[in-house]
Amino acid sequence: MMKVVIIGNNVAGTFSAQNIRMLDKEAEIEIYSLEKYLYYTRIKLPELISEQVTIEDLIVFKQEWYNTKNIKTTLGKKINRIHPEHKHVFFEGESEPIEYDKLIIATGSMPNIPQIKNANEMIGKGVFTLRNIDNALEIKEYIDKNKVSKAIIIGGGLLGLELAKQIKNCGLDTTVVEFFPRLLPRQLDVDCGGMLEKVIEDMGIKVVLSAATEEILGDEKVKGIKLKDGREFEAEIVLIQAGIRATLDLARQAGLETNRGIIVNKYLETSVEDVYAIGDCIEFNNQTWGIIPACIEQSKIIAASVLGKKTIEYHGTVPKNTLKIVGIDLTSVGVFDPEDIDQVGAGWEILKAVDKKGNCYKKIILKDNKLKGAILFGEKKAIPYVNKNMDSEIQEDELRKAVGIYKWKCEGCGYVYDEAKQDLLYKDLPEDWKCKCGNCKDDFQRQPPEE
Ligand SMILES: Cc1cc2nc3c(=O)[nH]c(=O)nc-3n(C[C@H](O)[C@H](O)[C@H](O)COP(=O)(O)OP(=O)(O)OC[C@H]3O[C@@H](n4cnc5c(N)ncnc54)[C@H](O)[C@@H]3O)c2cc1C
Repeated sequence: MMKVVIIGNNVAGTFSAQNIRMLDKEAEIEIYSLEKYLYYTRIKLPELISEQVTIEDLIVFKQEWYNTKNIKTTLGKKINRIHPEHKHVFFEGESEPIEYDKLIIATGSMPNIPQIKNANEMIGKGVFTLRNIDNALEIKEYIDKNKVSKAIIIGGGLLGLELAKQIKNCGLDTTVVEFFPRLLPRQLDVDCGGMLEKVIEDMGIKVVLSAATEEILGDEKVKGIKLKDGREFEAEIVLIQAGIRATLDLARQAGLETNRGIIVNKYLETSVEDVYAIGDCIEFNNQTWGIIPACIEQSKIIAASVLGKKTIEYHGTVPKNTLKIVGIDLTSVGVFDPEDIDQVGAGWEILKAVDKKGNCYKKIILKDNKLKGAILFGEKKAIPYVNKNMDSEIQEDELRKAVGIYKWKCEGCGYVYDEAKQDLLYKDLPEDWKCKCGNCKDDFQRQPPEE
């Protein structure tokens, strides 16, 4: 009987186990993990700090699930050595080997701590990162014990903003400091970044952009931060959410080929025989991911590969991110700014409609008439259409209807007002606006027409 050992029990490790079990009722499956909790979702960790959820709420699969699937888990223990030549691994401080036939590394990633003076020294003394349940509990405890009233979040990406919202919900004066000149630099273009900034500020969260943090101020306890331009901001807690780094120590020790992640091929095989890798810790085709949909997609491929059925191949996952803040609908999928990579013209086309009053921004990116990406802000209805049609050829009428970007045709002269090419939506044109032929607003027909 084949024995599969999986290191790491978050989404990548757990879904690998689930998919292997679906394909093979007999294989022995053992999961080992450093964290002491059963598989839980990290998405709601900020809400654990604001006590909107409990640890129990975060756990995705309870013990019964593992029993039913006959998946053995060992929690709260670190694997610190892999010996591929003997096909076994060891726990830290233990000499009894754990044998495997196939090994899956799903060690995930850790928060990145940028080069900031005093940052590492102040960890636990008011500087924290948020990756796991224990981090969330530590942050909460520090806020309560020290009666913290002012917080700084370094990083205006998705995790930084979601954390800022929950810190604000705890009643703290909250400031987000972002290195780039806009929020969500990896998901938004300049225009939409500006609209989001306003909405975030309206929630009472301060935003400081183009702000490179030079130093964490304080000695025994954090007192604030200093930026490279000399500005200083006071705070009793500083939370760093500035990207992630793949957890590679174990893979490097075992002699696996690594770069930013563990290098894998289209079957998720590493450079060493019978050792596979998945999730936040991998690099495929010079790319790393760091999102749940990638882990889930990869888990189907790894299950087949491990069982010797190389029937499916990995071709990468389209990046898809949704900002999870109540009151904001924002999703960014795939390519969001071809201008940024100087690709407009080479078959790229952009359809964009902006409703500044309604805080709505819709941008659709096409290449050779195939859907390649979108930003949808203040707009939820179009998400299923975009997800379903990514990389497919689109019907323009169908796309416009789904996303709600219309053309309006003058019944008199045939002039077409295309919202995708204008600064104002048709509905926001002044009531006394007139067509070149003299016709007024009411003399226009929507294209595609209402059904
Ligand atoms: C606050 C937060 C919010 C997020 N929100 C979203 C979201 O909304 N949407 C989305 O798509 N993604 C989100 N993510 C990212 C998502 O959680 C990750 O992509 C996902 O957790 C990656 O899963 P993984 O299994 O590859 O790795 P991880 O989740 O990092 O898990 C790896 C596990 O391996 C264990 N491990 C590591 N080394 C060892 C060792 N040597 N021995 C034993 N065990 C070890 C670790 O302790 C860890 O438990 C969020 C992440 C955070 C932190």
